[in-house]
Amino acid sequence: MGQTVFVPRELEAGEDRIAASPDTAKRLFGLGFAVVVEKGAGAGSRIPDAEFVKAGATIGKAGDAGKADIVLKVRRPAAAELKAYKKGAVVLATMDPYGNEAAVEAMAKAGISALAMEFMPRITRAQSMDVLSSQANLAGYQAVIDAAAEYDRALPMMMTAAGTVPAAKVFVMGAGVAGLQAIATARRLGAVVTATDVRAAAGEQVASLGAKFIMTDALKDASGEGGYARELTDSEKKAQAELVAEHIAKQDIVITTALIPGRPAPRLVSGEMVKSMRPGSVIIDLAVERGGNVEGAKAGEIVTTANDVKIVGHLNVPGRVAASASLLYAKNLFAFLETMIDKDNKTLSLDPDEELVKATLLTHDGVVVHPNFAGDKPAPAAKKPAAKKPAAKKPAPSKPATRKAPPKKASAKKSAVAQPAPAGKPKGDA
Ligand code: NAD
Repeated sequence: MGQTVFVPRELEAGEDRIAASPDTAKRLFGLGFAVVVEKGAGAGSRIPDAEFVKAGATIGKAGDAGKADIVLKVRRPAAAELKAYKKGAVVLATMDPYGNEAAVEAMAKAGISALAMEFMPRITRAQSMDVLSSQANLAGYQAVIDAAAEYDRALPMMMTAAGTVPAAKVFVMGAGVAGLQAIATARRLGAVVTATDVRAAAGEQVASLGAKFIMTDALKDASGEGGYARELTDSEKKAQAELVAEHIAKQDIVITTALIPGRPAPRLVSGEMVKSMRPGSVIIDLAVERGGNVEGAKAGEIVTTANDVKIVGHLNVPGRVAASASLLYAKNLFAFLETMIDKDNKTLSLDPDEELVKATLLTHDGVVVHPNFAGDKPAPAAKKPAAKKPAAKKPAPSKPATRKAPPKKASAKKSAVAQPAPAGKPKGDA
């Protein structure tokens, strides 16, 4: 048997995902690797140990990390985990390095080669390795499911002998990967869907999903570098706010997903706009971990305003649909690993100059090598995302009732933890 791949149980509270699936374990085994999965590591994603055993893996304990040449993780390894790793181990995870420079340094000191999956360039050949997309897609889906669960009315129009239930009106703000999936999901549930974005290209995609695109004439196109949005000017922000204010008062459900690379999430929904909504309306703020799109949103909480609007700020939304998220995440990692495996001698060989490795490699040979973190150079301002805590907000108009977001399933232990993709995400170099 060749090198050893270790898949630990994630340590962060509320993280139910796992970085391997029976399918990827089987493929790695087939390529000649010994695969060791920590006991119970798949439980949060409904993968029993026996499934991994069937795939050719063995079940081990946390200490087995010390034997591993490759470690597959969802989150950046904690200090306690690093101690166990052997020097030279290659670790793939969502590393969330911005604002966590000391943790990056610790990985360098531990001598591991840390590959940050969220830095994967968004180029065609790396699409199957794009964890931001695979997780944002599920977050968009889950946002609609969460909204439907909080909304005390039906989403589709129902014409019954006892009368007609009107279709819910859903407004999606930000039509990127998460937003487009939210639109598609809300449409499948029968809602009447409108959406907005500041990139004109999003308009066609929104229309192709059967939703109406809402955009002000004052804002022709705010596409920025790499196909992402740029920050709006003050006059553009004003025009957008006027449009949104008028539209939002008629909506039942609002899902916000807007992000700008390297900036705090843009504030799209003001307290006044929330006040204009009907009782029982629901707002899901998927950008809450990056400061939030919605005034009054609180990370990890469901806030009920004085006018009875729920503002939902769940953390780790992909983790709320962990069983699906893990399968896709695992496949993303495998697709990347496969490019680094020498199939003849069944070993992984890391070439720091290869395009995808170069873009994602944070630490190597005992030093921080990624240009955004190496040496004393601080991360360029344009790449630095907001602090993980929501930005200071004006107090809500009247004291809102807040409740902790309930765990989705009895065994889940969701808590206020800083999350990686899709929020808090610096972009790849595409
Ligand atoms: P993102 O998460 O950075 O942002 C989410 C959305 O918010 C974007 O559509 C953005 O335009 C929008 N937004 C920003 N400011 C806004 C504002 N003030 N009001 C309304 N909307 C605002 O983006 P993303 O979902 O990661 O994807 C962005 C783009 O990248 C899309 O065009 C997507 O198709 C593209 N993409 C390409 C690849 C690839 O080529 N492999 C992979 C994934 C995504």
